[in-house]
Amino acid sequence: MKVYFDNAATTQLDPEVFETMRPLMLDMYGNPSSTHSHGREARSKVEYARRTVAQLLNTTPSEIFFTSGGTEGDNTAIRCSVEAYDLKHIITTKIEHKAVGQTADKLAAEGKVKVSYLELDSEGHINHDHLIELLKNNPRSMVSAMHANNEIGTLQDIDRIGEICNEYDAVFHSDTVQTMGHFRHDLEKLQCHFLVGSAHKLHGPKGIGFLRVCKSKKIGRLIDGGGQERNHRGGTENVHGIIGMAKALEIAYRDMDAHQKHIQSLKTRMIERLRETVPGVSFNGDIREGHSLYTVLNVSFPPNEDNDMLLFNLDINGISASGGSACNSGANTGSHVLTGIKADPNRQGIRFSFGKYNTMDEVDYVIEKLAEIVEPAVV
Ligand code: PLP
Repeated sequence: MKVYFDNAATTQLDPEVFETMRPLMLDMYGNPSSTHSHGREARSKVEYARRTVAQLLNTTPSEIFFTSGGTEGDNTAIRCSVEAYDLKHIITTKIEHKAVGQTADKLAAEGKVKVSYLELDSEGHINHDHLIELLKNNPRSMVSAMHANNEIGTLQDIDRIGEICNEYDAVFHSDTVQTMGHFRHDLEKLQCHFLVGSAHKLHGPKGIGFLRVCKSKKIGRLIDGGGQERNHRGGTENVHGIIGMAKALEIAYRDMDAHQKHIQSLKTRMIERLRETVPGVSFNGDIREGHSLYTVLNVSFPPNEDNDMLLFNLDINGISASGGSACNSGANTGSHVLTGIKADPNRQGIRFSFGKYNTMDEVDYVIEKLAEIVEPAVV
């Protein structure tokens, strides 16, 4: 049996999405910037996709900018707002994706900003009082806080963070890559200036995403070139990717309730069976329903000299998961997220992440194999 439990890394393309993309790749190959009929046909598809994404998120099409994915969206939001608003301070966390963390570090190294890190509890929740204190003392700040952590699944209360940012007139960016298409976002209500999506995390194609720029904010361009994306991003549009992403998001919204129920039931069973099967097991991050991604479960295995072989042993049994670390000492020094929440470095964090195509049988198979892999080591 082969089991893919790494859906937070990427997801299988939905065949419905593929069928939507196929004619764009084979027949409607015009450049959307061309004014002839082939070009106009492609342009109308791109703008249809923009309207679709905007409608699903309850915002206007003019706020949606297509990018190459989540990384580009995060880079653009942060770098371009610092420049456009002459921001001097970034408030973020130690558990952001590197697309955010490295951008902030680089801006600091260039001497453009100072970076402050928010206090987190042991499950990765932001201390809101600390955010208020930092904002009181630092006018002209940008806050970058992810909606859900990709390694441990903990959800932040971005409604509350948005309110606080609004109160202190801060620019707010949230990396929503892991929640896009898995939770509903109402951008009329949410007080967040910049958020991002990445199609390959929701059964769409790789290499395409979007950045939402709130109409109250005006930023420059990250990529120079042609005048595409209303002069914000040079480069011929990835037309089939854009159409595929809009379709993937449409399907995600259409089927969200059923998928949420199904995937949460896989996660719940995995938690229960692990507790029965692996002595001393615990979990990294908040695992409560409604406080955590239903797609992600980060399992903390007790200290054991064979821990560094866990992922390898899962792999030879046909199970794809990912590690909080790529180290070989059994310590989690490789995961900045586990370090950021001060997880016990002697325990091994393994992330299992689920998707709509996974089944209960797969959960049972993984537990059966884990029992074989882990048991000899703990007796
Ligand atoms: N942000 C988060 C939270 C992610 O999980 C990822 C993907 O791993 C990214 C950003 C980067 O997205 P992309 O692969 O589309 O560049």
